[in-house]
Amino acid sequence: MRQSQLLIPTLKEAPAGAEVASHQLMLRAGLVRQVAAGLYTWLPLGLRVIRRIEAIIREEMDRSGAQEVLMPVVQPAELWQESGRWEKMGPELARLADRHERDFCLGPTHEEVITDLFRREVHSYRQLPCNFYQIQTKFRDEVRPRFGVMRAREFTMKDAYSFAADQASFDATYREMHDCYSRILRRMQLDFRAVEADTGNIGGANSHEFHVLAESGEDTIAYASEGGYAANLERAVAAPPPPRPTPGETLREVATPGRTTIAEVAQFLEVPVGRCVKALAIGGEDGPMLLILRGDHELNAIKAQKLPGVKQPLEFASEADIRTATGAGPGSIGPVGAEVPVFVDREAAALADFVCGANRDGHHLVGVNWGRDLLLDEAQVGDLRNVAVGDPAPNDQGELQFLKGIEVGHIFQLGDTYSQAMGASFLDREGKASVPIMGCYGMGVTRLVAAVIEQHHDAAGLRWPEALAPFDVHLVALNYGKSESVREAADRLLAELSAAGIEALLDDRPERPGVKFADADLLGLPKRVVIGERGLKQGCVEVRAGHGRDLEQVAPAEVKARLC
Ligand code: ATP
Ligand code: MG
Repeated sequence: MRQSQLLIPTLKEAPAGAEVASHQLMLRAGLVRQVAAGLYTWLPLGLRVIRRIEAIIREEMDRSGAQEVLMPVVQPAELWQESGRWEKMGPELARLADRHERDFCLGPTHEEVITDLFRREVHSYRQLPCNFYQIQTKFRDEVRPRFGVMRAREFTMKDAYSFAADQASFDATYREMHDCYSRILRRMQLDFRAVEADTGNIGGANSHEFHVLAESGEDTIAYASEGGYAANLERAVAAPPPPRPTPGETLREVATPGRTTIAEVAQFLEVPVGRCVKALAIGGEDGPMLLILRGDHELNAIKAQKLPGVKQPLEFASEADIRTATGAGPGSIGPVGAEVPVFVDREAAALADFVCGANRDGHHLVGVNWGRDLLLDEAQVGDLRNVAVGDPAPNDQGELQFLKGIEVGHIFQLGDTYSQAMGASFLDREGKASVPIMGCYGMGVTRLVAAVIEQHHDAAGLRWPEALAPFDVHLVALNYGKSESVREAADRLLAELSAAGIEALLDDRPERPGVKFADADLLGLPKRVVIGERGLKQGCVEVRAGHGRDLEQVAPAEVKARLC
């Protein structure tokens, strides 16, 4: 193709507001343009990359035995009411009414539609297991669309949904999808990790996310230094704490005037921060609730949200509500004598002789002990905190370490959540109605474009892996407009390469060589041929057969062979 005939609006500088490298480069190299927050138009080069990613995904999904379908973007509210998600989903679900005032939504995911298809069309165990996939537009009204197409509102996802007759059959499909995702990401030359993950709005018991490792990633992955354990920070656990020591101190109340933060209190009382507990007041269905954590630990909102009676989504109680419930301000509250529901992180529950707020302004309790000074029921104790670097990993796998990742895929063990709720069933071998076990498998096609760029760029621009480059070869023709010999050689090469099935982009624009080289570096196609008058006089063009490869002088007739 001729560059003069394609819209590739390159930019010298990164536009203001583009924070991460992939967003900057996608704008600079003319892959996308923003239409509104989280909504993008894909220009020719960007779309070609999407098509290559889709082709790899299709090949591997087909290889795994999945069948491709295409479901509508617009989905009737009735299906979402059946699954219970019409109520449960917040404003991320975009709802609309048609001209007859019937409710619909823009599909953020397709569990309901596929389960409806299954219950209508699949009837027998003989048709199982089955796995349906599509590559299609999703809409999610994200609170904070950002990082370009990485967190957009409209984006392309490959989503798949499997149905199995029994657990063993489901497990085999899940393993196959795990392998399939790994094959897809390896073909894209991505450095990635599969990790245990939280299931969020989709539900089900277990799930795994696939993360492309990148400093700019929004997710934190905790992994064991000596073993295979790896989990999203949202879900990661450390080894359980050692048993609680026996009490040594007596309980006393001390004045801590003006000290309200844990650091201030610990310093004032000369106790380590880790022996003070903090009380976080959150909104519960019947008024505030207290969460107790060690002073040096951070609350994990995803874990806390799963506690019984906690308001969804998690919110901190107002100062006024805290005062009404405890009689003190947020800096002086604690579990002793609290008349609201209390949940305790297991690390805080393992402390003896600790410090906590006295539920009286400007006062704290020291030498506090569970069991002796306040009751602690096992049902109140759980894992509520974010793990930290250096924590002991579960199952003696060394220490936890952190990495940053971009979530590009997420596979879920749904169990019978949707099939039960929506009454999907099939006749088993004995002719009895049985409920299928489901899985679902998402992969962000457009997010992958950005993730690939995060791992494949340098100071000058993009560095496409060969499997994903929008074109295989960049033919940079110097003085194309003025030099007959350059024009002839370049046109011939373009024709010859396309006849051989090699997709080439010919820079035939009337631009100076410096501009052409800068743009070629920015676009980052792996192979390059520079055609100039001086070289041609000596019977040569300049070929670079891949990123990081040396430049070679090659006779035009040999170019095709050198590039194959
Ligand atoms: P996140 O935690 O990043 O919001 P999610 O858990 O909501 O992701 P899933 O529901 O598992 O995502 O969707 C499957 C895949 O779709 C994700 O792994 C991701 O690659 C992609 N995806 C999800 N939300 C977006 C978005 N707003 N923009 C682009 N891609 C997205
Ligand atoms: Mg999301």
